[in-house]
Amino acid sequence: MLNLLVTNATLPDGRTGMSIAVEGGRIAEVTQGLVAPAHETLDAQGLLVAPHFVDPHFHMDATLSYGLPRVNESGTLLEGIALWGELKPLLTAEALIERALAYCDWAVAKGLLAVRSHVDTSDPSLLAVDALLEVKRQVAPYLDLQLVAFPQDGVLRSPGGVDNLKRALDKGVDVVGGIPHFERTMADGAASVKLLMELAAERSKLVDMHCDESDDPLSRHIETLAFEAQRLGMQGRVAGSHCTSMHSMDNYYVSKLLPLIAESGVGVVSNPLINITLQGRHDTYPKRRGMTRVPELMAAGVNVAFGHDCVMDPWYGMGSGDMLEVAHMGLHVAQMTSQAGIRQCFEAVTTNAARVMHLEGYGLEAGCDASFVLLQARDPVEAIRLRATRLKVFRKGRLLAETPAATAALHLPDRAQATSWMIQKP
Ligand SMILES: [Zn+2]
Repeated sequence: MLNLLVTNATLPDGRTGMSIAVEGGRIAEVTQGLVAPAHETLDAQGLLVAPHFVDPHFHMDATLSYGLPRVNESGTLLEGIALWGELKPLLTAEALIERALAYCDWAVAKGLLAVRSHVDTSDPSLLAVDALLEVKRQVAPYLDLQLVAFPQDGVLRSPGGVDNLKRALDKGVDVVGGIPHFERTMADGAASVKLLMELAAERSKLVDMHCDESDDPLSRHIETLAFEAQRLGMQGRVAGSHCTSMHSMDNYYVSKLLPLIAESGVGVVSNPLINITLQGRHDTYPKRRGMTRVPELMAAGVNVAFGHDCVMDPWYGMGSGDMLEVAHMGLHVAQMTSQAGIRQCFEAVTTNAARVMHLEGYGLEAGCDASFVLLQARDPVEAIRLRATRLKVFRKGRLLAETPAATAALHLPDRAQATSWMIQKP
């Protein structure tokens, strides 16, 4: 007997009337109209069942600290980094863990069950590293938390930067990070990429560097990252995050850069909410959008994912762990408003993001983990448009969260009472 049988589901690829059979935490079968005995049956009523959301770029050590010790007045990346520097000496492990766990609760409620979080390794005490390793242990039964050793103050620029990062990896941090555009010179930035890539190759680690988070068109560290990925045979194991300078780069140079990134198998993680907020701050008018070239990268064959990056922290005072909000902003900023473009933005917060994180057992196929979300929408386009309610969130066949359907009771003159949740009737 099956543990769970979901019937009459619409899948992100457009198949309708689908049944998902779950046995022992895994998907046993996905087929049309299956009827089989199960301990629990869920009629999806034609609504969308999607694999869970994935956030491939986040900062869980800073999340929910908005206003501590003060608010970012200029709204710039650099004031955010300075503010984080003011907050760091005041951090306690207990408060950091409490905030991170609260955020993980928000995430689960939104069907976000895998997060790659950077953790600042610049402080020699590695307080944040220890705290997030503890959070990772505590949330493991319900959320995959992958940690990136992130030298926020620059691995070469800050004293002891390399040693601190290595110690974080020794403690069990999963991925090697970097921030080449924050090193003192372009040459130091390139040297940091080479050093960190060699370190990752030595230790067989994945890599995810903050790369060119700047409006400076000459910030070209993504080129070095792609070159090193090829040189060291690390195709498919490396991601460049942000890459906002590409927005401002010369078109001829980009025409040479895109094939290099594609050949190197480097994935790109764009963070639409944050990029549209933090970039272009030195511009008067016109103001640049400052998001990387998402559709062009996708067309070149690069795996592009969207991250949330920040929720209520020194850089950003908004957010709720809703990856549909991220996709919504992404499609606006990138002008990906065709039906195909909108669907690509849905993939950027699901399958593409899972590929960046090398998640095992992800997807809606036989043999995958039964980790999926029932949304109050009939397809990915409607899901993004409505930032649809996550009616039910399952992980490995277990129900983790439920939210009542969103409806509005209407009291209109000369009309019988009606309800609406803003779908367009077919
Ligand atoms: Zn970041």
